[in-house]
Amino acid sequence: MTDWQEKEQKYYMPVYKRTPLTIVRGQGARVWDENGREYLDFVAGWAVNSLGHCHPAVVKAVTEQVKTLIHTSNNFYNIPQMKLAELLVQNSCLDRVFLCNSGAEATEGAVKLARRYGHLHLEGAYEVITATGSFHGRTLAMVSASGQSKFQQPYIPLPSGFVNVEYNNIEAIKKAISGKTCAVMLEPIQGEGGVNLPEKGYLKAVQELCQQSGILFILDEIQTGIGRTGSLFAYQQFGVEPDIMTLAKGLASGIPIGAILAMEEASVFATGEHGSTFGGNPLASTAGYSTLKFIIDNNIADNAIHMGKFLADGLNNLRQMFEFITDVRGLGLLQAMEFDDDIANRLMLTCLDGGLLVNVLKDNAIRLMPPLIIDKDDIDRALAILEKALSGIKV
Ligand SMILES: *Cc1c(COP(=O)(O)O)cnc(C)c1O
Repeated sequence: MTDWQEKEQKYYMPVYKRTPLTIVRGQGARVWDENGREYLDFVAGWAVNSLGHCHPAVVKAVTEQVKTLIHTSNNFYNIPQMKLAELLVQNSCLDRVFLCNSGAEATEGAVKLARRYGHLHLEGAYEVITATGSFHGRTLAMVSASGQSKFQQPYIPLPSGFVNVEYNNIEAIKKAISGKTCAVMLEPIQGEGGVNLPEKGYLKAVQELCQQSGILFILDEIQTGIGRTGSLFAYQQFGVEPDIMTLAKGLASGIPIGAILAMEEASVFATGEHGSTFGGNPLASTAGYSTLKFIIDNNIADNAIHMGKFLADGLNNLRQMFEFITDVRGLGLLQAMEFDDDIANRLMLTCLDGGLLVNVLKDNAIRLMPPLIIDKDDIDRALAILEKALSGIKV
């Protein structure tokens, strides 16, 4: 254990299961540790570094902004905030934007917005229906929204107003909708919950049900958005349009940011009803604008389709070779590999030894989410390291 890792044990709250690696530098799809050893990064800061580490376009824009204006309060106008808001609206089905600082803050704000809508248009309806296995963040309310008891149990009693129903079950949502319901909130693909894909027609059916019931359809695209799945937003591939959408992870290359987007009809916050000190400040907005602009102008989502297919083909090849691989699933550059035994942690450590970072998704599954700028050579390298690691695993 290095000095820094010992300091972590002494000074930091032990909430993270850490991998024994201290990252000191990153460039593109690679990071380096204290000893100068290089690793191929298929974690990408939990799907945050969409353009890889320290992308020149983002570094340039952020460096100039840092020297010009880092922060102003939101009772003044600032240019980067408006540039990012305009770009988001021009490239999505939504009409208005609110910027905050993290994913949980975005989903929590989306729920507040849905409750305002309920107060104004649905006779005070306030309940939000969410799915089992979902993940919407770590604030008390979002822990309550997330349909996973491991996040909820340590903190009961939880804020009320959420109903968790079975994922991929349209009847369960139908049954749960009542006069108290103001919205349904789903991830297009459940990320943290296991890279769980929606069954064909599920999201469309949910949107139609929401329309019929006059309630809001919220999509949490914090993990799936910004090109990750092969389109700028995942909803585009499922033939649906949310009334409210949240973004965060891949939006600003790692400068903290979150965003709530809403259709005009759902954009019901009045002056003073919501806000944020740091949200949409010039620095974070510049990071978001330069990241998103580069992704759009250079068709990076297209690369995520092609490289995602290349990666998925490679993973499926491995599945043919190793019978203890029980599933390979995902969309674009959000891929998971599942095993018939709890080998994910050991496999992750073996990959680390081989110079590849992968994410332990569950005891029996790993997740691969490289930067969206990844190329075939790097995927081939990663697959070779993974194959070697799999060969060495005795189940
Ligand atoms: C990561 C994530 C969040 C929470 O984001 P934070 O920035 O960690 O608060 C919420 N929803 C989804 C779908 C996520 O993947």
